[in-house]
Amino acid sequence: MRTETTVELDALIREWEAELGPDVLAQARYQERMRVVRFLLGLVMPLVLVVVWLPTGWAVALRERFLGNTSWWGTWAVLLVILLSEAVLALPFSWYFDFHLENRLGLNRQSLGGWLLDELKQAMLAIPLQSLLFLALYAVLRLLPPRWLLPGFAGVVAGFLAVFYLLQPVFLRLKFKTEPLDDPDLEARIRQLFEKAGVPFAGLSVVKAGEKTARSNAALVPRGVGTEVVLFDTLLEAMTPEAIEDVVAHELGHKVHRDMLKLMVVLGVVLVLALAVGYGVLRWAGTWDGLQGPQDVATFPLLTAVLAWLGAGFQILLNAYMRRVEFAADAYAVRLTGNAAAFEEAMRVLVKQNKTLPQPALWVERLLYNHPSPARRVQAVRRWAARQGTSSARP
Ligand SMILES: [Zn+2]
Repeated sequence: MRTETTVELDALIREWEAELGPDVLAQARYQERMRVVRFLLGLVMPLVLVVVWLPTGWAVALRERFLGNTSWWGTWAVLLVILLSEAVLALPFSWYFDFHLENRLGLNRQSLGGWLLDELKQAMLAIPLQSLLFLALYAVLRLLPPRWLLPGFAGVVAGFLAVFYLLQPVFLRLKFKTEPLDDPDLEARIRQLFEKAGVPFAGLSVVKAGEKTARSNAALVPRGVGTEVVLFDTLLEAMTPEAIEDVVAHELGHKVHRDMLKLMVVLGVVLVLALAVGYGVLRWAGTWDGLQGPQDVATFPLLTAVLAWLGAGFQILLNAYMRRVEFAADAYAVRLTGNAAAFEEAMRVLVKQNKTLPQPALWVERLLYNHPSPARRVQAVRRWAARQGTSSARP
């Protein structure tokens, strides 16, 4: 028997799908399938790295060449070479999913050369950083007695998370130019929203994304003691000021609920456990064929494979948690703005711009989505609004 809820959801999905039209809907379905393919390939890739480095004896030869287990410079060099090889192996996949697929979906606005240059810039920052963090991990593995390993892992993981959290705005600005917003009316609205939420406002930047992609996005990033709003120009062009307010209010919901901090703590605990499991696997499997156990930098490809597989399994559990967090931020947004109709408008624009399915297959949503489907989000918001009597007009 169909309940009232599923009937309402089905009606919403049909309405949005009709609005997208058959061509865009087919593209959205294709994007959905590719999401699954990408997840599966993400499990195969680390295995390719293991096969390239270990049975060939290249990892042991590389470690010998650079004296990777006796000199720290040597360890660092081995890590850099293996991380570089990983980036090179992953390049065709990145090209396929981030460039070719975006072209087929009509969302890319960049030339191949421009895209490659961006990839190169990001790799030039990410690879040295990763290599230093893994170097710290080998210091822990080699210098600490076994009972101090867990606190050692925790230290490395904390450093890892802090560096990548703080560098988020840098990575964003590496790819996109930003400029201050020249719209006093919108800025005043957003400032008011921040005051209502009790969050210190540190300005509003526009990301010039439109020259590279048709996708749109928004985020809050730390700036000094305050919080800066970062909006894609593609979003500004397509949304009404009221819808933009709801998007920013959703992000404020995350801020007020301290979701980033909670996520970091959860991620931190999981990464420490993953390192402990990785250590166990290397003690068991890391002594074959010239390998010398967890302290041996030649076993690094195996460690990254274990971390990647545990990470993928954990991602599925984390997604379930994240979807609840997203619903809570939506509820907060609608309470803050009192404008559920504008939230619905924002979701409608995002579905169109990013060519997202209003509702993917249930199993895909459960496994791979860290946000609830757009249709479910709108349905939930309609229900809260009806309960609070704030359904369409601003109070
Ligand atoms: Zn969110």
